[in-house]
Amino acid sequence: MDATESLDTDLLRHELRGWLATNLEGRFRQAGSALTASPESLVVLREWNRRLADGGWVAIAWPREWGGRAATVAEQVAWAEEMDRVDAPSPVNLIGLSNIAPAILEHGTDAQRRRFLEPMRRGDEIWSQGFSEPEAGSDLASLRASAVRRGDHWLVNGQKIWNTLGTAADWCELLVRSDPAAPRHAGLTCLLVDLRLPGIEIRPIRTITGESEFAEIFFTDVAVPADCVLGEPGNGWRVAMTTLNSERGGVASLHLVARKRIRRLTLAARAAQGPDGRARTDDPYVRRALARLHVEGELLRALCERALAGMIANRPGPEAALTKLVWSRTEQRIAEVAAEILGHAALGGEWARARLQARSYSIAGGTTQVNKNLVARRVLGLPKGD
Ligand SMILES: Cc1cc2nc3c(=O)[nH]c(=O)nc-3n(C[C@H](O)[C@H](O)[C@H](O)COP(=O)(O)OP(=O)(O)OC[C@H]3O[C@@H](n4cnc5c(N)ncnc54)[C@H](O)[C@@H]3O)c2cc1C
Repeated sequence: MDATESLDTDLLRHELRGWLATNLEGRFRQAGSALTASPESLVVLREWNRRLADGGWVAIAWPREWGGRAATVAEQVAWAEEMDRVDAPSPVNLIGLSNIAPAILEHGTDAQRRRFLEPMRRGDEIWSQGFSEPEAGSDLASLRASAVRRGDHWLVNGQKIWNTLGTAADWCELLVRSDPAAPRHAGLTCLLVDLRLPGIEIRPIRTITGESEFAEIFFTDVAVPADCVLGEPGNGWRVAMTTLNSERGGVASLHLVARKRIRRLTLAARAAQGPDGRARTDDPYVRRALARLHVEGELLRALCERALAGMIANRPGPEAALTKLVWSRTEQRIAEVAAEILGHAALGGEWARARLQARSYSIAGGTTQVNKNLVARRVLGLPKGD
């Protein structure tokens, strides 16, 4: 038990362990992640999601009245660790639960909370986040997709890109420009958009791994009902910041997956032989590389725990940006070291995929350069550049 643990956390761990032992069937584990699931695997993952929801193990951070457990940050981390320990798949709404729901809870009307939260929790409706555009990513406030009020609806036109889960999604939290004359942050509105509306075209993007975890979405004269505004018209920037700040909160458990991958690489290296027929781990270079990775994994864990302590104390700091930076670099190093140690065995399968996938970690959730700027200003106290 570490400094952030409590008796409640211990009880939660105990209860969840017992529940997982009874409910986590092999077929659920084999279905993988919703991000890259085939349509057939997604059916299995939705069944798993419903089972988790029935057990009260989805969205434990949400208030009780919306199906959550009002879990503390430490309890949320305990949940993530227990799920990770037995390779339990996450709920299907990876973005909806952690990013979009907090925005609906904070800015939504009661009618919107009643309409959207339960199907999201059960995985019956999958959500995506439509913020980025081809010309607006790091500089999100320059986005151009437009919404014009026409009677009882908004007429939406424009394009979004890098829409995670876009091909599986039923709904999208969409950020649009509703007042082109207003200062750029003040002219934005957030809409909750049914992706089956006429005028919407979703095109999958095939990535370097061969998978399609993203989509582009095109909007042509799409009529979005006026009661689907989240927050007030013109208040979209605030809603977007609630969404993105909740995303950054997820960094506290980033070390889990990275450290598990380091352990898997160590096991693979132990089982592998070099050209001379000796175990790869007899080679001092390999031993040093693995030891270094282990230390990097532990450093990441320490950073995550520091970020977590800041969240528990309600003291937001630069740790999230720092943790995101170190995490992306660590994941990239793990994949590079795997290739060096395992040789041709790392040219296919999980290690090749990890190496390609890890490239995107420098971009997702805030790019390396943008995070370095944040750290330069807020940790090192350097002046803002031009
Ligand atoms: C895995 C993944 C999942 C994603 N999921 C979603 C999603 O679900 N919904 C969504 O809306 N978007 C999503 N995105 C998009 C993501 O938010 C953007 O890719 C990101 O914000 C960067 O924007 P961009 O691609 O337009 O690059 P740009 O912002 O154009 O950046 C290009 C380059 O310029 C650098 N740069 C930019 N600004 C500065 C600066 N001020 N100082 C120094 N360097 C700078 C960047 O670091 C980068 O190297 C996802 C991206 C990835 C990789």
